[in-house]
Amino acid sequence: MKKPFVTKAQLDEILKTYPTPFHLYDEKGIRENARRLNKAFAWNPGFREYFAVKATPTPAILKILHEEGCGADCSSLSELVMSERCGIRGEEIMFSSNATPPEEFVKAKELGAIINLDDYTHVKFLKDICGIPEKICCRYNPGGQFAIANQIMDNPQDAKYGMTKDQMIQAYRELMELGAKQFGIHAFLASNTISNDYYPTLAAILFELAVELRDKTGAHITFINLSGGIGVPYTPDQPENDIAVIGEGVRQAYERILVPAGMGDVAIYSELGRYMLAPYGCLVSTAIHEKHIYKEYIGLDTCACDLMRPAMYGAYHHITVLGTEDAPCDHVYDVTGSLCENNDKFAIDRALPKIDVGDVLVIHDTGAHGRAMGYNYNGKLRSAELLLREDGSVKMIRRGETLEDYFATALWD
Ligand SMILES: *Cc1c(COP(=O)(O)O)cnc(C)c1O
Repeated sequence: MKKPFVTKAQLDEILKTYPTPFHLYDEKGIRENARRLNKAFAWNPGFREYFAVKATPTPAILKILHEEGCGADCSSLSELVMSERCGIRGEEIMFSSNATPPEEFVKAKELGAIINLDDYTHVKFLKDICGIPEKICCRYNPGGQFAIANQIMDNPQDAKYGMTKDQMIQAYRELMELGAKQFGIHAFLASNTISNDYYPTLAAILFELAVELRDKTGAHITFINLSGGIGVPYTPDQPENDIAVIGEGVRQAYERILVPAGMGDVAIYSELGRYMLAPYGCLVSTAIHEKHIYKEYIGLDTCACDLMRPAMYGAYHHITVLGTEDAPCDHVYDVTGSLCENNDKFAIDRALPKIDVGDVLVIHDTGAHGRAMGYNYNGKLRSAELLLREDGSVKMIRRGETLEDYFATALWD
């Protein structure tokens, strides 16, 4: 049974000031979760989470996470500048980009960010544009299929990211010649994993690689970045990952592989997005139409422009009809947005309690890759973002887009 992080009474109060639709974030949930993560990796003195900014590029959110000790993982110029403006600086920024435009490397270097090279050819590219920093990271792609206990999790062989092992070795050698002194390894092999084994399995692969790279190149490896990929239960029947178990699994691999190799001083980094934010955000919307044709439809005052995941991936997002939490789910609806696109549906054939026009719907787990992925198709304007603070008060942290925002880039004559 999934429950919204906000009660009906709280939402009724919020709705007096802020009309739907809006995204709402839970500061308490965000902070407590960040603390759980930091605790799970407290055994590693150098541990740092670099929040994947693309998941929720909202300054107020970045600042909360920064206060909890997190840095920022950026992969574009805007994300770099946003982090800078939030007071996140230097090695608190990881720059994990791909097909990187030159000016983005220049900005990352200027900020003193840790640059994570996606490709072997980027060694020369970076050297020619702005030179090689002393601390640098290379992204690894092992190819093949990535499996845990015979279960295929993803297909690195089809992913555009990272370098082969031979390229990693060659890149390290050249980077050393060009003056790099501290090295990192990064890999992202499976997304939204519901398994306490993902990070430990990935860690073991990267730890073995670290030992091999050190032995073959003599490079001083100072950190290993396990990147993103820890998932959240979007459906009510999925189990939750246990971050304490995950941290302990990584620790065991560390003790087994790195410590005996004399590499017990390597820092562990993460670059989580979804795990840090998804459950702590929801999209709040009002049913404004009902329609009875060959199926039953409920039309909302929001659309895919505020949340693309269902349209893009057929992703499941749980829906709570506010105030009917205990009512039977004896109606079947397609819950739609207003785009002229038939995939603009937040739910298809979903069993829900009876919905009346005027009911408020809470769409769950939209805190990561939610508003961030939004767009302006059909000239739709993206909604405001609100923060439910720890004291129960609400603060607007991004206003909704206006027509003038939408028209601002057009040249009218
Ligand atoms: C998207 C991304 C992440 C975050 O992924 P989640 O699935 O949200 O944890 C981390 N690192 C890189 C390089 C990414 O592209």
